[in-house]
Amino acid sequence: MSDLSFHLDDSAGDSSGARTYRADMVVPCFNEEEVLGHAIPTILAYMRGLVARTDNRLGGFRLILVDDGSHDATWTIIGDFATRELEVEGLKLSRNFGHQSAMLAGLAVTDADVVLTMDADLQDDLNAIAAMVAAHEAGAHLSLGVRNDRATDSLGKKGWANGYYRLLSLLGIKIIENHADFRLMSRTALDALLQYREVNLFLRGLIPTLGFTVTLVPYKRAARAAGETKYTLRKMLRLAVDGVTSFSVMPLRIIALTGALIFVGTMLATAWFLFGYFAHSASVVPGWASTVLPMLFLGGVQLLSIGVLGEYVGKIYMETKRRPRFIVEDATAADLSARLALAATIHAAA
Ligand code: UDP
Ligand code: MG
Repeated sequence: MSDLSFHLDDSAGDSSGARTYRADMVVPCFNEEEVLGHAIPTILAYMRGLVARTDNRLGGFRLILVDDGSHDATWTIIGDFATRELEVEGLKLSRNFGHQSAMLAGLAVTDADVVLTMDADLQDDLNAIAAMVAAHEAGAHLSLGVRNDRATDSLGKKGWANGYYRLLSLLGIKIIENHADFRLMSRTALDALLQYREVNLFLRGLIPTLGFTVTLVPYKRAARAAGETKYTLRKMLRLAVDGVTSFSVMPLRIIALTGALIFVGTMLATAWFLFGYFAHSASVVPGWASTVLPMLFLGGVQLLSIGVLGEYVGKIYMETKRRPRFIVEDATAADLSARLALAATIHAAA
């Protein structure tokens, strides 16, 4: 156990004999220089307050900030806080691996009893954490923040989110609606999650496959505290496609079904044509439309189908390579680096 966690456990000083536990909060940060100066003190103040509010059952916490290959002063800011604040630790990835992988990096290095994840921009309501922690004390292994309104989202994002959830449920993918990545996981749940080796990560889709006792904690999502969204349209589409193709083979089945229907339809049409030709010797005029339109239609269906197949083949390609899901360049604390060696074994097999 590290010096730091020893110190934190020590400071718990609870005489009630109730079980104390340690929490780590993992926050992925990509070009968040504008918000971190405000976000870090806010999170620290809240968590310190929470330690007191739980009568020190929450014996201590760490804030693990993962710099996901930022180009701005994010890492310098994290470093500054890490030297000043006991609870702050930082992990720097070698490049931008994306939100999900950055979060996984933080999850892989924590050795706490409970781990919280949230975004750097304070859009997730810190006050929900008290409810998550209470749910954990009552026996929940997973406590998931669910936003109860989308008032702060643009109209486009709102419609997009609704349509996407509908599509997922249509494809038989179990997902907790309006839950992003604001959650609490117990050690047991986290260890289970870390057994998933996939390179194409969609954590919020994996969570419902874990099982365990789950509580939902509704909260109101605020606007970003500072800065712009770091989720470009491209990143959002990527995540959306991953969400579908990582959990469902339904698109492949739809392709096969479409093919079968077209085949049967063609057979019937041919039979009808032959019947008309021989029985009534009707003069069938082969029109332009009846030739070109089906051709275009079939061409389109085929290209689309190949595209969908390609998406899955590409996934298989990436998965078989077993590339590391993140690469760490630097860490602010020695014990983080030590645990990284352990984390490396997690994806060495991967
Ligand atoms: N983020 C990240 N890597 C990325 C993109 C985003 O680590 O490639 C982080 C970002 O710093 C933030 C969180 O993921 O802490 C969510 O991003 P953002 O708030 O920009 O997304 P939005 O809330 O707009 O969907
Ligand atoms: Mg945000």
